[in-house]
Amino acid sequence: MKVGFIGIGRMGSQMARHILEAGYNLTVHDLRKEAAVHLLEKGAKWVDTPRAVAETCDVVFSSLPGSEDVEKVVYGVDGLMGGWKVGDIYADMSTNSHDLVIRMAKDAAKKGVAVLDSPVTGGTKGAEEGNLVFIVGGEKTALEKIESILHTMGKKIYHVGDMGSGTVAKLVNNVISITSNAIMAEAFVLGVKAGVDPQMLYEVAFSGTARNWDLEKYPDSVFVGDFEPGFRLSLASKDVGLALQLGRKLGVPLPVAAAVDQSFLAARTAGFGDKQLYAIFEYLENLVGVQVRTTKK
Ligand code: NAD
Repeated sequence: MKVGFIGIGRMGSQMARHILEAGYNLTVHDLRKEAAVHLLEKGAKWVDTPRAVAETCDVVFSSLPGSEDVEKVVYGVDGLMGGWKVGDIYADMSTNSHDLVIRMAKDAAKKGVAVLDSPVTGGTKGAEEGNLVFIVGGEKTALEKIESILHTMGKKIYHVGDMGSGTVAKLVNNVISITSNAIMAEAFVLGVKAGVDPQMLYEVAFSGTARNWDLEKYPDSVFVGDFEPGFRLSLASKDVGLALQLGRKLGVPLPVAAAVDQSFLAARTAGFGDKQLYAIFEYLENLVGVQVRTTKK
């Protein structure tokens, strides 16, 4: 089976490496050829356009920043649409817009191509370790054909349901985790501004009802002032926006997410977009004039 991969970024570079190391014939493309050097050195083939990826491969994966990028890759000049053949499979692992995912699936079906929305969770660490979780929507038969490839990159695969349902489940997960980080930033900054030791705030939260997955990561990130991505704040902001878009379409109000969306917009405008999601702390710290740092224990 010939496999294509488009979007050799923080996530994609690691995912594509696992596919290659598992022995698949891999063709890659990105806007930046230099991003793929480590793959080309290991035997991957480079092509200049998404169309050429589709022409060369039976299965194409993409891991792109946002829906505008996916739209260009699929529908743009020399996009996937121009190269697809009957029987091909396209699995988009970006966190994408629900509308676009559905539209792509309908248009691809006219060409005999199956689309799977298969966003991932597990972060760059999960990508590096081949330990991602896939949250898949679309035809089960298409998923079964690519399961062995997904297993090179991750351990767990959820088939959520019809096309678009993987995206819905991913947005639900992300809107929970991202808004949690926003409120944790506000609360910790408040506590420190009020004069309490950050380590003590952490220990109380950790042993109390505030404990959660991200909080457990703070001692090695926020509390030591490490805001290198990882998961960029601009991508987190995009994901909250995608959830709001879906809520608007379905008539579901999301007032908390809407407020968080504005916080992230402010942080992006202030120049924190390319830092880690946790830099929402740094943005607030600068605003208020305190830092949530501990002496690491
Ligand atoms: P990234 O910005 O590091 O990588 C994206 C790559 O896509 C870059 O190499 C970029 O050059 C390439 N690209 C952009 N537009 C392109 C185009 N038109 N044609 C070809 N290549 C193009 O982003 P990332 O952190 O790897 O995230 C990728 C996706 O995975 C996003 O949708 C993100 O929301 C999702 N995600 C990220 C994480 C994480 O921890 N970083 C975790 C889960 C999900």
